[in-house]
Amino acid sequence: SYGATAAAEKELENPLKPPVEIKYTKLFIDGEFVDSISGKTFATYDPRTDEVITHVSEGDSADIDIAVKAARIAFDEGPWPKMPAYQRAQILNRYADLLEKHSQELAALDAWDSGKPYEQALNAEIPSVVRNFRYFAGWADKIHGRTIPTESGHFAYTLHEPVGVCGQIIPWNFPLLMAAWKLAPALACGNTVVLKTAEQTPLSALLAGALAIEAGIPPGVVNIVSGYGETAGAALSYHMDVDKVAFTGSTEVGKKILEAAGKSNLKKVTLELGGKSPFIVCDGADVDQAVELSHFALFFNQGQCCCAGSRTYVHENVYDEFLEKAKERALKRVVGDPFRSGVEQGPQVDREQFNKVLGYIKSGQEQGARLITGGSKLGSRGFYIKPTVFADVEDHHDIFNEEIFGPVQSVSKFSSLDEVIKRANRNAYGLAAGIFTKNIDQINTLSRGLRAGSVWVNTYDVFDATLPFGGYKQSGLGREKAQTFESTNMALGKLNINGVGVPGSVIGAMRTW
Ligand code: NAD
Repeated sequence: SYGATAAAEKELENPLKPPVEIKYTKLFIDGEFVDSISGKTFATYDPRTDEVITHVSEGDSADIDIAVKAARIAFDEGPWPKMPAYQRAQILNRYADLLEKHSQELAALDAWDSGKPYEQALNAEIPSVVRNFRYFAGWADKIHGRTIPTESGHFAYTLHEPVGVCGQIIPWNFPLLMAAWKLAPALACGNTVVLKTAEQTPLSALLAGALAIEAGIPPGVVNIVSGYGETAGAALSYHMDVDKVAFTGSTEVGKKILEAAGKSNLKKVTLELGGKSPFIVCDGADVDQAVELSHFALFFNQGQCCCAGSRTYVHENVYDEFLEKAKERALKRVVGDPFRSGVEQGPQVDREQFNKVLGYIKSGQEQGARLITGGSKLGSRGFYIKPTVFADVEDHHDIFNEEIFGPVQSVSKFSSLDEVIKRANRNAYGLAAGIFTKNIDQINTLSRGLRAGSVWVNTYDVFDATLPFGGYKQSGLGREKAQTFESTNMALGKLNINGVGVPGSVIGAMRTW
């Protein structure tokens, strides 16, 4: 574990060599890798050392313009939206096979670029990327409308058609998975895409671009532009020839995207934004299991998860035992080089995020929360932070209201379900919520009372390809993985998934409306 030996910290000074060679660094437009019009490049950094990994072409509004033109022509004149949906499905399945074949390289690129454990990327994220493409390939020829018996006796029907050119802007926390959530449903429906990756993590999507051509996706259907948000991202969101923009990232930028859509061509918008999700441990819960699950809910992916369970509410009857064990678990968390086997936590993605998280730790201490473990950086190189736990956190503390996006668990005591529902809902976000109890009355009361797009009971972070995902309140607009099925009932959903994580508990149902 991070504190076990000086050798473990020392090891961080000598990063392991990532098992991958970087082949693609240019923009991927109309089926080819091209330099940016300006000729500019930008550096992408290794969060283990803050050293440059490589330089990639920097796209801006001129490149977005060319990419949108390619996507427009591919949509208006190309075969993709018009081919039999079955054929599109075959191509997407071939694409999934190729992504699977290249799993190790893709996982290594994401681990290197973002600092996430390689094993996590290889064993969980890239397989999920592959499943998303297979799942949506299955939908391609099963999206159909209805016939409607009209008053007037006319024969009428609804027809589902692709939206057109989709602009997609993604963050750095799950680089290829976020690309897959956006690309797979849009492509399955026959749309064409311009994807703007996050400036911190451009590498894996470029390899995925090369594989799209190998799979037989026609040129111009998928275009990938690396670049910054204020330039390339803004150009995409304002573009008059983009029919829809789907964005994942901060609520602040989400508001800018919506404004851009309003000020340009009123393009359709899907937003998947920040969160401050409650994780509620009820009276009578098995404390060992609750500690383990709440630890996962917060610390997974270095805490850089939009739905991180970042407000841990624990019932007063189990509070002291919970704190003791949460501290023990945090101290056991294996922090280390993302390429070392068995590592649970790597560095934060970049200096900005690292400083932001350390700033929140400081503010927690200053505002009176009780730091029980961690609280500082780890090692002398890179952006590693010790797994941190605060106790006695109060509703007015910044660490309990704002998105920290780091390995900082904030624990607060509650006495009754009414109280915790009120407190949990008193927040600008509503992305997800976790409930830990085997008591069906508590499950019922909480899952209906909490205002969140996903409610996970005795489990957390269920990102199944089959499930829509998105937020209430300022956590977003619309639902991910259903973005282009505009008029089907899949586009709206509140999930209620019970009991996957804990042996012996109840499996419930999913409800949608
Ligand atoms: P961000 O919202 O600034 O960036 C996300 C994406 O949007 C990137 O591709 C970025 O280039 C692009 N972007 C930025 N400004 C833009 C603009 N004006 N127009 C169009 N696109 C733009 O997020 P960040 O700066 O990487 O992180 C800031 C905070 O956002 C984090 O600390 C975290 O709280 C939150 N965040 C949330 C998620 C999520 O999954 N919901 C992911 C990453 C970050």
